[in-house]
Parts: sequence; C-alpha cells; structure tokens
Amino acid sequence: MAAALLVRFLRPPLDTRIVLIESEEIGIVGVGEATVPVIQAFNGVVGIDEREFLRATHGTFKLGIEFRDWARIGNVHGHFFGDFGRPIEGVSPHHHWLKLRQLGDETPLSEYSVPNTAAKLGRFAPPSPDLRSEASAYKYAYHFDAMLYARFLRAHAEQRGVQRLEGKVVDVRLNGESGFIESVLLESGESIEADLFIDCSGFRGLLIEQALKTGYEDWTRYLPCDRAVAAPCESAGLAPFTTSTAREAGWQWRIPLQHRVGYGYVYCSSFIRDDAAYTTLLGNLEGKPLADPRFLRFTTGRRKQFWNKNCVAIGLAAGFMEPLESTSILLIQTALARLIDMFPDLSFDPTIADEYNRVTRNELERIRDFLILHYHATERDDSELWNYCRTMSVPESLQHKIDVFKSFGRVALYSEESFLEPSWIAIFLGQFVYPRRYDPIIDSIELEKLKHGMQHRRMTVRKIAEAMPTHAQFLERHCKSATSTR
Ligand SMILES: Cc1cc2nc3c(=O)[nH]c(=O)nc-3n(C[C@H](O)[C@H](O)[C@H](O)COP(=O)(O)OP(=O)(O)OC[C@H]3O[C@@H](n4cnc5c(N)ncnc54)[C@H](O)[C@@H]3O)c2cc1C
Repeated sequence: MAAALLVRFLRPPLDTRIVLIESEEIGIVGVGEATVPVIQAFNGVVGIDEREFLRATHGTFKLGIEFRDWARIGNVHGHFFGDFGRPIEGVSPHHHWLKLRQLGDETPLSEYSVPNTAAKLGRFAPPSPDLRSEASAYKYAYHFDAMLYARFLRAHAEQRGVQRLEGKVVDVRLNGESGFIESVLLESGESIEADLFIDCSGFRGLLIEQALKTGYEDWTRYLPCDRAVAAPCESAGLAPFTTSTAREAGWQWRIPLQHRVGYGYVYCSSFIRDDAAYTTLLGNLEGKPLADPRFLRFTTGRRKQFWNKNCVAIGLAAGFMEPLESTSILLIQTALARLIDMFPDLSFDPTIADEYNRVTRNELERIRDFLILHYHATERDDSELWNYCRTMSVPESLQHKIDVFKSFGRVALYSEESFLEPSWIAIFLGQFVYPRRYDPIIDSIELEKLKHGMQHRRMTVRKIAEAMPTHAQFLERHCKSATSTR
C-alpha cells in the first residue's frame, strides 16, 4: 500500500526513488481480510479499478458487521456503514427511536438502517449517486484475500516505477551523531541507502524498534486478546457482511470471500489454551477446512512514536489493536495520507514528526476506545474474560463518552475519530447502554406525526433494500473471480 500510494504522489519533477524491500521467505501476516469504507478512497487515489480488484482478490462486498452474543448470549446487533435516518426537527433519529421505545415500541434500531436491512436480506447494491435519496446514505467496504491484494498492489506499484528488491534485511546502520538511519544491509551483502525509511516490517518493527528502540505502549489491560487461530474453509454462502461471534475467551470472525470463508478465533491466552481455542474454532466452522490452522500472537498497543528521526512506522510496525472492527488496513491508509500531507524535506524539521505523532496517537486512541466499548458494555458473566472486561476500568476518554451518552444520549466526539455518531450509537444501543432521557425537543412533535415519520422511514429502508439484487447476483454480474466456486 505504501509503495503503491507514494509512487502516485512522489513522481517527477520531484526527484525521488522508491525502493520496496520484501522477503518471500518471511512473508506477510496475510490474515487481514475485512476492511472499512476508506479503502474505496484509497483504491481510487491509487488508480485501482474496483471490479478488476475484486476479481483479482476473490473479493466480496461488506456492508458492516453483525455481532452475536456480545452483550448477552443470544443477542444480535449490528454495526453497519450507514446512519438511522436523517435528523428530524434537527434531532438525531436515535432520540425518536428512544421515545417510541419508552412508549413500548419494540422495533429494532436495525430496521432504520439501509445497509443492515439489506445485509439481513443478503442483498447488495452500491449507494445511489442521487444525494437526495435515502438510498445514497450508506457506504460499503470489501472482504478479500489479503495475500492477493498485496500481490495486486505490488504489481501496480512496480508498473509505476517502484523498484522491488527481494531479500532479507539483516542489519540497520545508524549515523553515529544524529542517530538517523543511513542504510539497511541485505543478506546478499547489498547496502541500500535512503533519506527516509518507512518501516512496514510488521510486528517485529525492524527499524522503528529493533534499530531505533522507540518503545511500545501496551494496551493489554484494556484489550486483553493476544492470540488468534485462523483457518480458511469451503465456501458457504455469500453474506455481504462480517460476522463476529463472542466466545468464552474472545470472539470468532467469519468473512465470506468468493471462493472460501475465512474463520478465526481471536482469544486471550490468560483464559484459554491454544489447543482449546483451536478446538472451539473447529467446532464452529460451517464447512471443511481448506488448510492447516495458523496461530498468530500479538500485543495490543502502539509504538510510542510512529515517526522517529527519519523513520516512519506504518502498519503492524506502528501498533495493533486487534481485528474486531477491521481497522488495521484503514490505519495504514490514513497514515499514508498523513505522511503525504506532511512529507518532510531533507532538514527533517522535528515539528513535522511531532505533529504526525500527535494526530496518529489521537486516531489510534479513538479507535482503541471504540473497541474497548464492545468488550466492556456487556452483561455476560459466564467466563473469566467477560467478567474481566465487564468490570475493568476504561480510559477516561471512553468513560466520558459513556457518561455523556447515558446522561442525555449525545455522542461526545473528539478529534481524529474514525467512527462517527451512527457507529457509536450502533454499539451503545446494540449493547444496551441506554440514555436516561431522550432529547426533550422531540416532545414538541405531535406523537402521531413522530410515529408516522418513523414508520415511513422503515418502509423506505425496506423498499430500498428489497430493490437490490442479491449479493451473489451482483458479484456474478460484475466481478466474478476466475476460481469462484459459486
Ligand atoms: C489475527 C489478525 C487478523 C487481522 N484481521 C484484519 C482485518 O480483518 N482487517 C484489517 O484491516 N487488518 C487485519 N489485520 C491486520 C493486517 O493483517 C495487517 O494490517 C496487514 O497484514 C499489514 O501488515 P503489515 O504489512 O504491517 O505487516 P506484515 O504483513 O507482517 O508484512 C511485513 C512485511 O515486511 C517484510 N519483512 C519483515 N522483516 C523483513 C526483513 N528482515 N527483511 C525484509 N523484509 C522483511 C515481510 O516480508 C513483509 O512483506 C489482522 C491481523 C491479525 C494478526
């Protein structure tokens, strides 16, 4: 992603050369299969054709995430990429829903969401370009084979002038005075010098940590899952959404691609052993596994600085907050946009790095809080993990958000939020965090008018969703991949 985007911006007359060093022997993590809508903008800027990309990566469309058993066993709620309707009398629609709920109306909030309703019906169509239509008010992302996406981007970058070197970096040379990175040494003996180094070496943080000793802020106390076991499976239906099912010591993902379904159990090693986690995963597959399971280990948290001297860490080298809301690829893409925006000259003014680090830290902390809410807002008391998460203390920034929402139903947004009001509402209300009161302004609306307005919204949503083709039909018509088994 870094090479593909940078080559698009750092082109003549700028006198830059981009070298990408990768090691086939080490490989990539490759389990990142679900994304959020920002990827559309990224692919667009890089110059990738959506349908060609989906065919090449066996990709499918993602309208959001369905959460099962998170707040209570048996509860299903969703986080889909859309809102719950336009404000009525200037008040967010969830207040109207809250008022009707207080009066005994049991309509689930999901029925006011176009993408959630479409997902339940197994349907997909891109949003309408007509911005006046309710059918324009949602977004979508993708599921894909991450190995194939990396390969696709590599070819794209190479065609546009990136030089790729196959080989292992075995040493990093620092300048004795400034501590800046001067060069990296490959196993072959070749030395590569550069002005700016982007560390995309994954969890190991080859440059940012091993060479520059930047330090890591550990968030395990808030996000305790530290392992995953993943297995691809035979195809079993083409839901246009990710499913996340809470389990005894973590949660399991289900990500449908065109040719297979990706499954993985993200768990906390303090509460379950690897073999038991694997058995849990195997017991919850819908088809035959297509490969041996892969075990992965991680420590949730972030690098203390993302930009240190002449090195910018991007991707897992910068930090990892677990895959619950598919935010790692998002964070790579926003980091790259920020790097281009703040691109240094050879003086490497430290103010630029400070600003980059400030904004990136805020962005990560906002996502961290959103993820913690999923774990913390639970009534589950059936296992050690859920007892821990339900009773843990959360960061002040999140506690404030919870307090504000509980008090009067407002979402307190900070700067650099990746998830806006509808996303927070979906998790708050989906996980039974209810405000003590709705916005009193809506009491000025005649009750019958309010009921009628809400019913109209529901019917419009349903009509829009029912008019869409099924997800399978849409893929078949527009982006069927060569080896798809459908
Ligand atoms: C369990 C799990 C599930 C995930 N699910 C999602 C998801 O659904 N959505 C999402 O957005 N993200 C997800 N992620 C994160 C996602 O996998 C990563 O963001 C993505 O793979 C990018 O990783 P990376 O490029 O930073 O690191 P890596 O994939 O580890 O790549 C590191 C690169 O550095 C190279 N390298 C390393 N050391 C050397 C060396 N010494 N010499 C030369 N080259 C070297 C490697 O060859 C490789 O090319 C998940 C992660 C995990 C662990």
